[in-house]
Amino acid sequence: MEHADLKVHGIVQGVGFRPFIHKQVRFLKLTGFIKNTSSGVELELEGEKKDLQEFINTLPERAPKLAVIEKVEYSFSDKLKNFKGFEIKQSKTEAFRNTLISPDICICEDCLRELRDPFDRRYRYPFINCTNCGPRFTIIKDVPYDRAKTSMSAFPMCDACDREYHDIENRRYHAQPDCCPDCGPHVFFMDAEVREVPGDAIENARKLIKNGFIVAVKGLGGIHLACRADTPETALELRHRKQRDEKPFALMCRDTESAEKICDISDDERRILESPQRPIVLLQKKEKGLWHISENNSVGVMLPYTPLHYLLFGEDIEALIMTSANISDTPILYDNIQALEKLRGIADGFLLHNRDIRTRCDDSLCRVYEGREYFIRRSRGYVPFPIKREKNMGMLLACGAEQKASFSLSKDDYVFPCQHIGDLKNLETLSLYETQISHFERLFDIVPKAIACDLHPDYMSSEYAEKRAKAENIPLLKIQHHHAHMTSCMADNFLSGDVIGIIWDGTGLGTDGTSWGGEFLTGGFEGFERAGHIRPIKLIGGDKAAEEISRTAFYMLKDSGCDTESTENSELYSRMLEADINCPVSTGMGRLFDGVASIIGIKSTCSYEGQGAILLEAAAAEGITDIYTVSIKDKVFDWRNMVREICSDLQHSAGKDVISAKFMNTIIHMAVLICRNIREEKGLNRVCLSGGTFQNMYILRRLPKALEESGFEVYTHRRVSCNDEGLSLGQIAILNEVYNVSGNSIKNY
Ligand code: ZN
Ligand code: ZN
Ligand code: FE
Repeated sequence: MEHADLKVHGIVQGVGFRPFIHKQVRFLKLTGFIKNTSSGVELELEGEKKDLQEFINTLPERAPKLAVIEKVEYSFSDKLKNFKGFEIKQSKTEAFRNTLISPDICICEDCLRELRDPFDRRYRYPFINCTNCGPRFTIIKDVPYDRAKTSMSAFPMCDACDREYHDIENRRYHAQPDCCPDCGPHVFFMDAEVREVPGDAIENARKLIKNGFIVAVKGLGGIHLACRADTPETALELRHRKQRDEKPFALMCRDTESAEKICDISDDERRILESPQRPIVLLQKKEKGLWHISENNSVGVMLPYTPLHYLLFGEDIEALIMTSANISDTPILYDNIQALEKLRGIADGFLLHNRDIRTRCDDSLCRVYEGREYFIRRSRGYVPFPIKREKNMGMLLACGAEQKASFSLSKDDYVFPCQHIGDLKNLETLSLYETQISHFERLFDIVPKAIACDLHPDYMSSEYAEKRAKAENIPLLKIQHHHAHMTSCMADNFLSGDVIGIIWDGTGLGTDGTSWGGEFLTGGFEGFERAGHIRPIKLIGGDKAAEEISRTAFYMLKDSGCDTESTENSELYSRMLEADINCPVSTGMGRLFDGVASIIGIKSTCSYEGQGAILLEAAAAEGITDIYTVSIKDKVFDWRNMVREICSDLQHSAGKDVISAKFMNTIIHMAVLICRNIREEKGLNRVCLSGGTFQNMYILRRLPKALEESGFEVYTHRRVSCNDEGLSLGQIAILNEVYNVSGNSIKNY
């Protein structure tokens, strides 16, 4: 006989871990106890050494689906305590705050079976869940995670549920949100006039949707607007009511087979589509079409993830448009009263329920790249799971940028990035941003010792950081935007030392006071140098040029000596340029895409961010290898030759598809040449790709390959997004480095 002390770190609470341990212990005839701790669980076990060893060895592979085992520490001794049987020691309420919290997980197979079983007591009950599935992060008010600290506290368990909850053999043992029709929440349906409609709420909603109406549906992390996907009139009506002219909608399909009728789905895409996280996956349309849903070649598809969604689809609905219910760029609605008030005139009916959403969490959005999620938005299903680093970070806060606002908090070797918040452009979003920072700090018991923010002084996130650092008298580090992008990709890939960063996005304040975004940087966490960039573009009218991209086209044509006569407002623009009135310069790659998209006639005014670039990518033909002339001087890409050749192509009536492809090929070739230059000078061979431009799959499928053919090692994002949402990971990594070296005396750029 032998005694073993074990510590298991990771997500092991609220995921059916203890019943699993109970079974293992019984099977191997071990004795002892298990208890929750701040970082996971602790066990003391006694038995034959080989059985103890087997218990430890098989732990990771046999653990329940939702458990995430990060580390198992153990030691043996021959000092026996002679336990009688096996005991689960209850957690005391004094905060075990360090414990990781599980994200929300889609309904599991077992629960789905019960949902569809007429003889089950939870038949068609829309809140069915178990230790393997259901809401977590979105219903938690506080830690430690138990029912009293979730929005389920309003629903005392009935005897039947209580028995399951306490029965270690039951698959609902200690499932905090467990409930049934007798004791749990319920759905209700209201019409456009906010009158409760009698009868089966879900059937009422289904009927309305099938008849072409728009219904607000309360989900896991917020409220969606749902309507038929197969009738363009309905979609257009939704666009009209939501004032969302052109931005693509997401679809929810009943199952993968239904999605396959519309999209091509690879094995990897299927796996991620069907994963318990259930993100929206951007998939290639089978044929062009579905323009009322998406104006480009792909469409965002997700599968149902709550029992309510499954009931809503029933047997006869195959695909629904499911778009977050929000009003003019404010955060997703999540509260019944607010929804009824704000969606008046937008929704024709409301399928709501009385289980409160405590924390909003929008759907995640990703592509599948090299077999993995490549995030555009990391949110429901993933947050608040941390990003692990290989170093102790201490307690820090990084405040992100402005668009796709995000923050990260760190503790030990974990970084906790927040869920999707939105663009910090209105007070509602700022308020959500601030409350989420406090919420995360409470959940994970973090008191930041230093703060990082963007160099841009006008971002609301920078103002927040500034105020807070002052109030709490802690150091503040202002970090250049693209430096943070680069280090985000480094931290994402566990890199250290110096790298080359190809950082391409729309905008970000440079250290010279101008807007950057077509950058080649070198350096690491301690600092960086600007090694190259694209020829600056004058933005006629400043911010206006990001919307009216024909302004950028005008400048690029004029700067290249091409004909600008036919451009609308050409006289006005010329005068503005000559007098240099409100014409700031930018090296943003997004601006270069804008200009080219407009020159070749793809789009002249954008109705959502990045539209020109997205449509240019969609227009590009496959199989084109031609490029335009690449002129580089002192590691600055001079695009004027390219623009002149594009004009000549246009005169010879080359198609948009060919020109778009040639343009992107040119950019790719340019990047390889500049990286080679940098390597010759600095001997750096690792290249990190970050910034919103790397959501462009045409470039992502080709640039890494082209660089690898030149002998470079290429790194792309794995766990956070390449766009500004992922930036706070880079900020916190830099802050960690600088703060550890210089402590309270940290200096800014
Ligand atoms: Zn379940
Ligand atoms: Zn019950
Ligand atoms: Fe950016």
